[in-house]
Amino acid sequence: MPSPLTTAVLQQLEREREAMIALQQRLMPIEAIGPGNGGTGEWEKGMAVRAILAQFADRIEEHHAPDPAVPGGQRPNFAAYVCGDRSDRRVWFLAHLDVVPAGDLQAWTTPPFTATVKEGRIYGRGAEDNHQGLASALFAAAAFKAIDRRPPCDIGLLILSDEETGSEFGLSHVLQQADPFHTDDMIIVPDGGPPSGEMIEVAEKGGLWLQCRITGKEAHASTPHAGRNANRAAARLMVALDHLYDRFATTNPLFAPETGSTFEPTRVTGNGVSINMVPGSAEFSLDCRLLPGLASQEVLREVRAIADRIATDCRVHVAIETVRLNEAAPETPTTAPVVARLSSALRDVYGVTPRVMGHGGGSLAAPLRKSGYPAVVYSRTDETLHTANEYCVIDYMLGDAKVLAHVAANA
Ligand SMILES: [Zn+2]
Repeated sequence: MPSPLTTAVLQQLEREREAMIALQQRLMPIEAIGPGNGGTGEWEKGMAVRAILAQFADRIEEHHAPDPAVPGGQRPNFAAYVCGDRSDRRVWFLAHLDVVPAGDLQAWTTPPFTATVKEGRIYGRGAEDNHQGLASALFAAAAFKAIDRRPPCDIGLLILSDEETGSEFGLSHVLQQADPFHTDDMIIVPDGGPPSGEMIEVAEKGGLWLQCRITGKEAHASTPHAGRNANRAAARLMVALDHLYDRFATTNPLFAPETGSTFEPTRVTGNGVSINMVPGSAEFSLDCRLLPGLASQEVLREVRAIADRIATDCRVHVAIETVRLNEAAPETPTTAPVVARLSSALRDVYGVTPRVMGHGGGSLAAPLRKSGYPAVVYSRTDETLHTANEYCVIDYMLGDAKVLAHVAANA
């Protein structure tokens, strides 16, 4: 049976449905796109959210990140608090302000930066990623104020810039400048999850991007023996790199068996030669996604060994450059209190039995886990993020607000 406080906040949220839709309508037209994605940043949207926080938060801290790439020179970040009976421990909800660009405008059936409400959904860029999580977090925290009740411990809201392009001016900046977390805080990132609403994400893969450059010797195609064909070496290398799947075929019980580490040749860069030339250079990228526990160094060693073999066989030079490395974060223990509280909230609010899993990569939870904080990712979505006709299911937005409020009421 939910506690009287839980019942009261959930009933309050039931009255906020229209206000949550109105928040989406207010935020959607403010195009908060980071400079890394060709936009001017999150300042205006940050100020709009700050004004909402000011209506209910007991305290707001500002941790803006200087960034000369945006007009005002700053990327906004806020920590806001609703005081609870105790302050030595907190429940945190994280959300991000930035959205990705609209992409192909022809593919949209509604204007991407206007919130269009139809058939129980809100359409528009950012509706799901991350307005849904932002609205859920804001309304969950505000519900306690609206009924004039204190949660058992403080609620912290961290509203961040720059999630879509690496978090340097968002979470990383806040962690460096003014880390607000304690090791026994409960941290939820409402930014992704399947339509069933059953998945609590406690682990993510790391990422390793490599650029492979093959140098041979150019020649006329009628006299190939005078050259060393870099294309052939590149093709052989790509196929040889499939060995990584066997070599690192370990599984992780948190991840579905079909989602082990992956090693995919992706972009092939043109070498500019004409059809009758043996190319002297060739280049391609390898995108590796590594399960927690598989160190990038191990993979790099194996890639180098394979490349050396191909280089010898084909009498070419192979350079391997690490373009980006994001080591997999340690998993949040499935025994962490936040997992238990969230599970009980999901049973009460959605009537589902949650599955605690590993999934995806690159969420705000990963840097937190690396800093030793047990963060989880949870939301119920149709997974339309980053696509044309992105939408948020209004019932999920309201339901997720109840889930977050339930956790806070029972922390
Ligand atoms: Zn997001």
